[in-house]
Amino acid sequence: MREVVIENNLDDLTFKEYLRLFTETDLHSLLSLADNVRRRLCGRTVTFVNNFVVNYSNICVARCPICAFARSMEDSDAYTLTPTDVVKLVEEAYYMYGISEVHLNGGLNPELDIEYFEEMFRLIKRRTPHVRIKGLTCCEIGYYSKLWRMSYREVLERLREAGLDVLSGGCLEMYNNDVRKIITPNKISAEEWFNIAELASKYGILTNATMLFGHVERPEHVIEHLLKIREFQEKTGSILVFIPLKYNPWNTELYRRGIVKDECSSEYVLRVIAISRIVLGDRVRRIAAYWVSIGKKLAQVALTGGANDLVGTMINEKVFRETGRKDITTIEELAEIIRGTGYQPALRDTYCNIVKIL
Ligand code: SF4
Repeated sequence: MREVVIENNLDDLTFKEYLRLFTETDLHSLLSLADNVRRRLCGRTVTFVNNFVVNYSNICVARCPICAFARSMEDSDAYTLTPTDVVKLVEEAYYMYGISEVHLNGGLNPELDIEYFEEMFRLIKRRTPHVRIKGLTCCEIGYYSKLWRMSYREVLERLREAGLDVLSGGCLEMYNNDVRKIITPNKISAEEWFNIAELASKYGILTNATMLFGHVERPEHVIEHLLKIREFQEKTGSILVFIPLKYNPWNTELYRRGIVKDECSSEYVLRVIAISRIVLGDRVRRIAAYWVSIGKKLAQVALTGGANDLVGTMINEKVFRETGRKDITTIEELAEIIRGTGYQPALRDTYCNIVKIL
């Protein structure tokens, strides 16, 4: 494998070469390669945003078998917060933690109308004008456009007018349609996700992008996903942070049905993040080691193998907590994790501008 690496520009490998690099290179060499790419192209700063998560509703009709968070309307613990409830939480978090971003997370809830989101966004902007709103995924834009009988354009424009800054990047999961049929059969296709993200970028709404791994995918699906992200980014430049998300099977339907029996290994997590950096280079400058999904210790190791972002403080995160992950953190703790790798911690804003060196 080393011959392939030495002889070829890492930016210009074939599908098969990336696949071999991902699966056959020894772990240490793979992490070193990814670390070199990241240092050469993206420098020594590792970032995160100080943010707060509001799960405004857990009602979702998609019922993806990968999900431990969603409830149906009949469930006794189903809930939907009012826009006023949401803004109170954001305001409290702003004054208590000094957050610069709210991450709004929900499902596909047929009872919500566009005015619900418009009111929520407007209230947040009025009461906490310095807080950026990152929320909704392309799946929600797709679902609600259909539900509300509006075009994507109309929905995106109205939400942007009301204050939406950035799409969260969730629900992309895995590009391959055979995999999607198993893990997320009722959501829009990955192709549609990219169509909506591209349209959103034309209206000034950028996005993050995710990849859910560690379920039923094969290594070639990971490479396919990454190459699609690369192609999309070359076309639009609209992805701010690429976030590989480790699938945590506990409390999900895939686990209950025995389709996924365990979580993937730490080695696989590190390989996925490293190959993400190698395939994407600096096209997406921020590649995340998402500590909520992989744990802080592994996130720290991933920072030495291609990752250069920890996503955020993620105060009040609940989706991963439903699968049993209970970690919380502080700015100082994340900064310490980064310092432990020899890299420079920095707070960033939603748009990846550095706001403070820590
Ligand atoms: S993953 Fe998202 S779309 Fe799927 S059931 Fe859960 S909340 Fe709904």
